Amino acid sequence: MDIPRIFNITESAHRIHNPFTPDQYATLGAALRLSAGARVLDLGSGSGEMLCTWARDHGIVGTGIDMSPLFTAQAQSRAVELGVAGQVGFIHGDAAGYVADEKVDVAACIGASWIAGGVAGTLALLAQSLRPGGIILIGEPYWRQLPPSNEVAQQCQAQAVADFLTLPELVASFSNLGHDVVEMVLANPDGWDRYEATKWLTMRRWLQANPNDELANEVRALLTTEPVRHVTYTREYLGWGVFALMAR
Ligand code: SAH
Repeated sequence: MDIPRIFNITESAHRIHNPFTPDQYATLGAALRLSAGARVLDLGSGSGEMLCTWARDHGIVGTGIDMSPLFTAQAQSRAVELGVAGQVGFIHGDAAGYVADEKVDVAACIGASWIAGGVAGTLALLAQSLRPGGIILIGEPYWRQLPPSNEVAQQCQAQAVADFLTLPELVASFSNLGHDVVEMVLANPDGWDRYEATKWLTMRRWLQANPNDELANEVRALLTTEPVRHVTYTREYLGWGVFALMAR
């Protein structure tokens, strides 16, 4: 079981697989006022940076589930590196339908809400693992600026303008789904650069090492076009944030 191989190639050097920077995860961890021993579930945990750093900084315990064997292995190594392997564990698997055995204080899905078919489905899935009064974290994109056409939206890796909401619409949608928005930390264009531009050097080095790979042409084409696409579209139009929610 794995995600499409192209992501394992382009994001192999990422610690954070979204536009958040390490200081934004630190800000979020502090904002949540986590206590030592708090239990955190993370669906689509990637390379585990959120759980590992919060285990180090706040003494949380937790579990992450991710479909990429590569990212899961990186998360396990990171836990060892930060001395928190006794506090956090990472499972390779499909997070769709995953419900924790023991209820958690914080249930998160940061940038992977397709796992349960979108925001509403993901909130419902996370709620099944959450203790009463617990916090849900959801990381989602939104339009900073509404694209003038579906063609422009497609350059931001959406199918259509309708795929994402504006920030006010997104925040209102959480309320309409019966949740209080109790905290939020937003990414910014510099964070988008960390997420997108990190792929470029990774791709360049991968091409040098794997010139005859079956994905070499695809990676070559991406490296040629991605920097201009990013600065023209994603960087200008797309926002991203993590929203902390509590059921009303
Ligand atoms: N939350 C992480 C990763 C976000 S990127 C971070 O902040 O860095 C989205 C992640 O979802 C990727 O790591 C990808 O491997 C994972 N993923 C995609 N589909 C999945 C599924 N069905 N089950 C579990 N993980 C999945």
